[in-house]
Formats: sequence, C-alpha cells, structure tokens
Amino acid sequence: MLGLMQDYPLLTHTILDHAALNHGEREQVTRSVEGPIRSTTLAQIRTRALKVAKALAGEGVSLGDRIATMAWNTDRHLETWFGIMGNGAICHTLNPRLFADQLDYIVNHAEDDIMFVDLTFVPLVEALQNRFGTVRKYIVLTDSEHMPETSLPGAVAYEDWIAAVDDDFAWGDFDENTAAALCYTSGTTGNPKGVLYSHRSNVLHGLTVNQPDVFGLTSEDVIMAIVPMFHANAWALTYAAPAAGAKLVMPGAGMDGKSIYELLENEKVTATAAVPTVWLGLLQYLDETGKKLPYLQKVVIGGAACPPMMIRRFELDFDVEVIHGWGMTEMSPVGTTGKLKHATLNLDREARLKLKEKQGRTPYLVEMKIVGDDGKELPRDGKVFGHLLVRGPAVSKSYFKLDQDILTADGWFDTGDIATIDSLGFMQITDRDKDVIKSGGEWISSIEIENEAVGCPGVAEAAVIGLPHPKWSERPLLLVIREVGSDIDKEAVLVYLDGKIAKWWMPDDVVFVDEIPHTATGKIQKMTLREQFKDFEFGD
Ligand code: AMP
Repeated sequence: MLGLMQDYPLLTHTILDHAALNHGEREQVTRSVEGPIRSTTLAQIRTRALKVAKALAGEGVSLGDRIATMAWNTDRHLETWFGIMGNGAICHTLNPRLFADQLDYIVNHAEDDIMFVDLTFVPLVEALQNRFGTVRKYIVLTDSEHMPETSLPGAVAYEDWIAAVDDDFAWGDFDENTAAALCYTSGTTGNPKGVLYSHRSNVLHGLTVNQPDVFGLTSEDVIMAIVPMFHANAWALTYAAPAAGAKLVMPGAGMDGKSIYELLENEKVTATAAVPTVWLGLLQYLDETGKKLPYLQKVVIGGAACPPMMIRRFELDFDVEVIHGWGMTEMSPVGTTGKLKHATLNLDREARLKLKEKQGRTPYLVEMKIVGDDGKELPRDGKVFGHLLVRGPAVSKSYFKLDQDILTADGWFDTGDIATIDSLGFMQITDRDKDVIKSGGEWISSIEIENEAVGCPGVAEAAVIGLPHPKWSERPLLLVIREVGSDIDKEAVLVYLDGKIAKWWMPDDVVFVDEIPHTATGKIQKMTLREQFKDFEFGD
C-alpha cells in the first residue's frame, strides 16, 4: 500500500521560490569581478534566474542540454545556476584551475552548448575556443560598460542578454530525478570523470548540509561561501543558504586574506567555509594587522586535511569554532563534519582540539563504513584503518557517459580514501588508497606524518611518499619545503617527530625540496613525486 501524500518533486527552483516568497528582502552580497561590492536580494535573484531560464529557452536550450559556467562565486553566477537548472538544462560548472587539455576534454565530453564566462576567464577561454567545438555562444557575466573586445563566437554581455526578456516564465516541470548539474572530478590519473547530480540529490543535499551539526544556518545567519561553486557545488551552500533565508556573501575573485577579511568584517559574517589554503592567507593577514574576528562564530574547513595548528589558532586565538569537514565531488560533496557531540562534553580542552583533527561524523542521509581488502567491514575502534565506503541519496552510482556501475556488489561507493572510524562515529582519513605506505604487511599513514611534520618550526610544507624497500616492501620518505630564512636540517625534523608518531613510521630519510607539485584542486601529486624519486636510495 502506498502512502497518501502529495507528489511534490524535489526540484532546485523550489528552493528559490521558497526563498523569494519568504525571505525575498534578504540581502545577498557580492564582491563583483569588476571591483565594487554589489548588493541584491533573494527576490531579485529569483526574478533574474527566471530571465536566464527564459532567455535560454529563446536560444533553443531545453531539457538535458549542457550549459557551462566558468565563474567565481557571484550573484550573477547564482542566478545563472538556478536559471539553467530551472530551464531543465544541466548546469556544468567548469573549474578554471584545470589544465588546458583537461578543459578541452571536459567541454567536448560534456558537449557544452553555451558557456557563461566571467571577465577574468575571457582570455583563457579565447585561447581555447577553437578546441571548444560544441560551444556556439559565450555570455560574458558583465554589463555593456565592462564588456571587453573579444573574438568569442556570439559573445554578448550578460546584462544585455537578460535585459532582452522579462521574467514571465514557468519553471520547467519534470521528474525530480532529472539531471540538474554536472561537475568533473580531476583525479591524479586518467581523464576527468563527470559527476551528474539530479534535482532530487541537490535539494536533499542542501537540506542535509543544513542540519544543526553541519552548517546549521538560520535566517539570521550571514554565510560567506568561499568554497567555489565550480568545485563541488560550493559544498551545497548555494542551496542551503537560500532555503534558510540566510544572507549569502560571495567573494568573487578576491580570495586573498585582505579581501576575505574585509567581507567578514563589513558584512558581519557569522559562518564561512573554505579549504585550508584560504585560511592560511587570512591568518597571515590577521597576524600582520593585529585584527580580530568579532562577528565570525564558525568556520568550516575541508577539501584537504585541516592542519592542527589552524584549528588551534581559530579556536584559541580568535574564539571561532572550527568544524573540520570531508567530502568529495561524487558525494555532492559533504560526507562528514567534525562538530563535537554530547558524548564529548566532558573531554578536556586538549582532547577536544585533538578530536577536531578528525574529519568527523556523517549527518543523516550519508552512510559510511570501512572495509578490508577482502570487503569485510572493519571495527569502529578508531585504530584499524580500511577502505572508506559511502552511500546515500546524494552519492554517485555512475559517471556521465561511462556506462558502468561503479558501486560494490552491495551498493556502496568506494571513496578511494583510507580511514579509521571510532566508537563515537568520528572518521579520520589516514590516506588515499594509492598513497598509503605498505611496510612489513602493515599500513603507514602518509597524511599523519605530514600533519605532524608541518608543525615542526622551520617546515613550510611536507609530503610523505612510500618508496620500494628490499626488506619492508615500502618505507616512507619525507619531503620538506623549508620556511623562508630557515636552515632546519634532517636531524632536527626527525628529533621533532620522535614520540609524535610510531617508531616504525619514522621516515627513513628527509629530503629538502623547493617545490611540491599540486593538482588543480590543490592536492599533492604523489604519483609525480614517486616518479621523481623512483631512483632514490635510502641510506642505512
Ligand atoms: P574532490 O572530489 O576534488 O573534492 O576531492 C575529494 C578528496 O579530497 C577526498 O576523497 C579526500 O581524499 C580529499 N579530502 C577532502 N576533504 C578532506 C579532509 N578534510 N581531509 C583529508 N582529505 C580530504
């Protein structure tokens, strides 16, 4: 017997309808790519998103067409997102940090039809336009006053383009499982893979991340989404914030410490989210200027392991709650967040700070477990590490145009991460499965050694890789970039690590380097490093 409730499809534009009706006056603030701070409202965002949807329909765009955006977090990008999805087309966010060949592959694989592009990226797109064979029109996210001379086919200024239509448009009416958005992951091997979100998964994920122990936004909050809309959906904040009626602050191209600080201060931001590198820039700016963070209550840090020092600085020096988060493009992307819970209330300060170093626990609608090489589930004891598997309504089951199920036989997605889970449900990433170091039949976590090594005075950045070893099969090599002006040596680093990691985890050698290669999304390219050091021989 079926329940007798209404068939109300979970479509992304219903979020905007709700926001405009109930929080229409709520201000949304952008640092514009042209420079000045721009202010709009949720009602205006909806009106203009409707114009985008209508103008796209006028261009002949319809259900399932791929429409690309290469843009910063701005109000215009937000309108474009909702407009594309509300038309029934698929919003394909392009990461401008990807390499030319990757962008070429992605645009052609997706068969993008029209591309919205920020002023910043016009030169990049011009250089690649001959390779973007499927794109017939470029809409530059600016007004006629700032419109550059460009060779892009069909180029038009966004403001002129939407001025040509009114907002008298009915959102598309389709099944909630219809594809809404496309985002390619840039692994370290092979071609990028397209993660295809549905309206249903986006709406559910927007609600998932707004549970109180995750972002927990209310209509009183001011949330600055620094995590880019072009990388993993801005952690679904662009759904969660309008659904809650929060004030959303979008930093545009200004990602440096000073620009971020100005918005935090002037807009009285209460919560924000970004990857660790952004916070390094802000902390440095705060140190240089002696400024404080009077309005900020919480900061979500994820996308890469949050250095323990960063947790301490925000919590102890600035009285800002740190919530460490983990996730991936295939998970829409939030998988876990590390807000402490009731059972941890009696822990002392040090133990609480230590617990925050873990990547955290799953909200409702994300499930996770760890398994061994044989696929058998491993205990949640905080010690044993295994392959981290996940499932939920906003987790991928396949990639775009890759006609193959990517799940385990019992329906779980293998994240490629290696982790522990403790008895309270807190997960800790110990490695990527390709990077974990297998020594004498046991696993060594390269990330844990890196985390400790970056705490050593004089160390600016550290990377640990496993290299072949005749007796132990693999042993860790520590690569270090010295801080400017430091002359720290191998001995000092090893003495620092002594006692902080297990004796048998001690790197067999330390090499000082000028550079550690990163992927376009900021991950250390360990494969490149292993290749670079393949002839390295450990001393005795
Ligand atoms: P992406 O799909 O590009 O967002 O990359 C997802 C991957 O980033 C995950 O599978 C992890 O390996 C890594 N990652 C994300 N957040 C964290 C975190 N808080 N700590 C460690 N690794 C992380």
